[in-house]
Amino acid sequence: MTQQREEPCPADSVDSLMAEMPFVDTDIEDEFVMPATSEINIKKKRKRTTGREIGEGSERKKKQKKQYQPNYFVSLPITNPEITGSIQTVQDAIIQKDQRLSKAMVHSGSLHVTMLVMHLSNEEEISIAVGALSDSKDFVEDLLKGKTVDLSFQGIDHFKNEVGFVKLAENDHTTLLTEIAESIKKIFQEKGILAGEGRAFKPHLTFMKLSKSTQLRKQVKKIDSSLYEDFKSHYFGDEVLHRLDLCSMLKKKQPNGYYYCESSIVFGKSHEADLVKEALHRETQALLSGLNQIKELLSSSEIRMKIRKELFEDRHNS
Ligand code: C5P
Repeated sequence: MTQQREEPCPADSVDSLMAEMPFVDTDIEDEFVMPATSEINIKKKRKRTTGREIGEGSERKKKQKKQYQPNYFVSLPITNPEITGSIQTVQDAIIQKDQRLSKAMVHSGSLHVTMLVMHLSNEEEISIAVGALSDSKDFVEDLLKGKTVDLSFQGIDHFKNEVGFVKLAENDHTTLLTEIAESIKKIFQEKGILAGEGRAFKPHLTFMKLSKSTQLRKQVKKIDSSLYEDFKSHYFGDEVLHRLDLCSMLKKKQPNGYYYCESSIVFGKSHEADLVKEALHRETQALLSGLNQIKELLSSSEIRMKIRKELFEDRHNS
């Protein structure tokens, strides 16, 4: 799953990519407690303020906001075709009623549950985060104690009528998922990464958000919940946690629509099953190619004659 590192996208394409960001419309001050805020305040207190400085101060604050904007997240990918298919049905039904909202829809390949958001400033911090995710594996497995986290997706809700998401049924599995998210957050924070400050973990599966398009945001201020009325308690399916990825919000997405991943951790039996499946696939491919070679040989009348001759001679001699 891990890809080769790529260069961040060129500046002119950042805007379009920003639209795909999971937390693109997030008020960073809500998301993060900024480490430098108190420092800035002290510096500000020492200075005598004039109107212009206040203006400069807010500019600086804006810059600080940008500086710590989340650009990475730990993602739980949603791969069950039952869920992705049902989500597409809802998306299509909504678009039928309001064509403008087609721009708000999340591509089925990028559906995920966000476990943690963070800001990584440079390559060094990215490697620290990769290490933190890798360290998380043992902690998560300790929490799992051999159990699986089976997430049940049912019903639709929204954040401020700007984001539409599928809800997770609240049960022991979501409690365990919350413990996992908390544990990962602690590991990242202990490594000095600015991660998951502010908002409490509220697992959800976003399938549409106005922030995906600035043009749409101007046209539509609120998503009318009657558009998805028919699916308000619809059951979408279950997803078993078997992988967590460290994803970039800004780097170019993969051809399948999923985010660029710096690294991944895989859990439980399904991983073993995947390995067995992969090995079987390799073996089957080798067998098939052998069979094809035999078929090709047999298609030649010359070879067939040779075989007949040898068989005849063998029988004759014995
Ligand atoms: O993480 P995800 O891509 O699902 O987030 C989609 C949007 O939901 C984000 O832009 C964020 O602003 C919003 N959100 C929210 N409250 C939360 C979590 C996410 O408003 N607790």
